[in-house]
Parts: sequence; structure tokens; C-alpha cells
Amino acid sequence: MSETLVQSSSTEDVVAELKRRTHFVMVSHVKPDGDTLGAGLALGLALKSLGKHVWYFQEGEVPRNLRFLHESDLVTKHLPADLPADTLFVFGDMSNLSRSGESLPKLKRENILDIDHHLGNEHFGAFNYVLQDECSTGTCVLRLLKELGAKITPEIATALLTTIMTDTGGFMHSNTTAEVLRTSAWLVDLGADKEQVTQEIFANKRLAAQKLLGAVLSRAVLDDAGRYCWAVIDQQLMDELGADYEDTEDIINQLLAIEGVEVASLFKDFDAAVRVSLRSSGRVNVQAVAGRIGGGGHFRASGLTYPGNIQEAIAGVHSALYAEGL
Ligand code: 5GP
Ligand code: MN
Repeated sequence: MSETLVQSSSTEDVVAELKRRTHFVMVSHVKPDGDTLGAGLALGLALKSLGKHVWYFQEGEVPRNLRFLHESDLVTKHLPADLPADTLFVFGDMSNLSRSGESLPKLKRENILDIDHHLGNEHFGAFNYVLQDECSTGTCVLRLLKELGAKITPEIATALLTTIMTDTGGFMHSNTTAEVLRTSAWLVDLGADKEQVTQEIFANKRLAAQKLLGAVLSRAVLDDAGRYCWAVIDQQLMDELGADYEDTEDIINQLLAIEGVEVASLFKDFDAAVRVSLRSSGRVNVQAVAGRIGGGGHFRASGLTYPGNIQEAIAGVHSALYAEGL
């Protein structure tokens, strides 16, 4: 969408805009995770407490494991037809506009606020609050809430802790700095329900999900002297186990956890597209790998939809990995 990169906005500029507008739509990305949804809900709840009107837009359903979040039951893909012309659409946790799906109305750039922490964010809004050093989009939102002077209620604190725990893999990834831990402790002091987040995000797996994990691990291939691990999930396996997309989400991390593995790929060859998840232990930049084949993400975690069949996807990802130094 952008020909010229619109510069990042300061915290003060974004907060001034949040104060000026009266109507907001929080937008989450497709296949939503705890960061995109938690960040949108946290900001939405805070804006409502300041008397603003807020809707939550998401193209698909709220995943089962995020339904505990306060106001997640209000998320919809049907927006009122009579929203005021200067409604601000706040996109959280996405490097480009298309990550929101296809059902949003066409928006003017002046009505777009992009809040994100991805490398390679396209600055597609009039306001772009992109902080690449933040562990989650939720912690970008927290900076805004502090400047806004909004009260951090236990519900907001839980939503923000969800963003952090999602994007740090339960405080295990390398983005878990001392400051992230301090912020998390502070959120717990304010009433964030850490037990609930742990339970909902990291436990509570359906039996189908655990069986799928077992099946994928038993099919996994170690390549390139044990540095690259990959596996395919096909439609037949999904049908056999009665699994759905949500049941696949954690599996990639288990491929990366194998001794000696530097990069893991999981090919999700079902539902009419090949979705690929990529994870790196830190040497290879998988954001750059995904960027070569139409995707994006972070240095250590990225994803894409491959334009081709499964064999082409396996080969295409392999050559992109080589090009980035696997
Ligand atoms: P996942 O493997 O969990 O689907 O995605 C990992 C990371 O890559 C997330 O940070 C996500 O935002 C990013 N990502 C996943 N799929 C896409 C995609 O199709 N395009 C872009 N730009 N980023 C993606
Ligand atoms: Mn994120």
C-alpha cells in the first residue's frame, strides 16, 4: 500500500490522536493470537473507560483459548454501517494491512493507526506506532495507556499479560528481558490473573491436539546435518484426529526444541492453502526467509502462505533458508 514509508509516530502524537477521536475499531489479524487480540482488548477497554465508543473487529472466530479474555465475546466481523467518517481503525500486531483479512471496508490512510513490534512493518497507517524492541504489541499499548493516564484494571492487566506470555512463549524466548519480567510482575500486582493465562494459553490442550503433536513428531525429518527439522500436517491426518487449525499452533515449538536444531518448519497442508510456520533458535533470520516468499514476522518466528503445492512449498522454503545462511 505504501510507496513512501510514513515515519513512526511519537507516543505523545498517538495519544493526542486517541484523545481527539471518539469512535474506534480495534482490528486483529487473521488466525489471531494472544498478542493481537489482547492488545486490542486492552486498548479498547481503556478507551471505553475514558468514554469512547469501541468495536472489536476480527475476520474469523475468537480461538477457544482466548475466550477467557474480557470482552472477547464482543469481537465481530460485522461492523455497524453508520460508523462516523473519522472512526479510527487500530491495527494491532500486523506488519501490513492484508494481515487483517479481506472483509474490512476500504479505509482512508488518515483513519489508520498501526501499532506493532514486527521487523519489516510497512507503516501502512497515518500513525505508525512501531516499536521493534518491544516483546509484544501489548507492551506498545501499555506505553500508550501510561501516557493516556488510563487506569490499568485487572481485566486490562490480564489482557496485557496475555500478550507478553504469548509472544515470549511463557517467558522462555530471548525477548524476555529483565524489564519484561518487571512489567509482568507489575501487571500481576495490578490483578492480572497469571494462573488463568498459563492455563488457557499453555495447557488445556484438546486430546486431538496432543495426538496431532505425537503424529507430527513421529513424521518429523531432520535435515542438513541435524540443523533443520521439518514436518507436514496434511488434510488426512487432520480429519483422522478431528483436529482443527488451533490444535496445530504449538507444534512448531516442539520441532525447534529438538537437540541441535537451528531452524524448524511446519507445513500445514490443509484447508485449501499451504501455511508455513518457521522458527529459529537465533542464528538464521526466519523473518528474512519468510520475506523472500511472501511472508513475514520476527527474527526467530515467522510465517507465510505458500503460493503452490506442498512439494513446491517444501522446496521453496528450503532454498529460501539456504539463501539466508542455513
Ligand atoms: P505463526 O507461525 O505462528 O503463524 O506466525 C509466526 C509469526 O509470523 C507471527 O509473528 C506472525 O505475525 C508472522 N506471520 C505469520 N504468517 C504471516 C504472513 O502470512 N505474513 C506476514 N507478514 N507475517 C506472518
Ligand atoms: Mn506480536
